Amino acid sequence: MERTFAMIKPDGVKRGLTAELLTRIQRKGYRVVGLKQFVISRELAENHYGEHKERPFFGELVNFITSGPVVAIALEGENAISGWRGMMGATNPANAAPGTIRADYATSTGENVTHGSDSPESAERELGLFFKPEELL
Ligand code: ATP
Ligand code: MG
Repeated sequence: MERTFAMIKPDGVKRGLTAELLTRIQRKGYRVVGLKQFVISRELAENHYGEHKERPFFGELVNFITSGPVVAIALEGENAISGWRGMMGATNPANAAPGTIRADYATSTGENVTHGSDSPESAERELGLFFKPEELL
């Protein structure tokens, strides 16, 4: 069984999409093994998105992701890493397949509602950044 890190970004929380997105996750059959809502510190945001440090949009990305509460979610299920990425759809909502979260709920690349780890290594790293072992049930 695989675990991944999912997040509802500040735009999704602000727009009241939390329940809808958790419903999709649970209907898919993933188990929620960790869940919390909080405002990410700049330090955590810069660490989480560290791979993008040199990109021109990095400052904007950190400002956005710290701009309000997020919902951090640890998911468990068969092929949860690629499965959750598939449910989210492409980074740019304009390229996201119909029926995916980003196609259904987002219009801009900068504010695209959800995050998902992109590999087993990043899943492990991000779960460790956002959750203590005892918070995963
Ligand atoms: P995430 O890591 O948030 O799940 P992703 O893996 O689909 O998204 P990444 O390439 O990791 O995409 O980029 C991280 C985030 O940075 C994107 O979700 C998006 O909000 C932002 N981003 C990526 N590319 C651009 C860009 N060209 N312009 C503005 N923002 C961007
Ligand atoms: Mg990414």
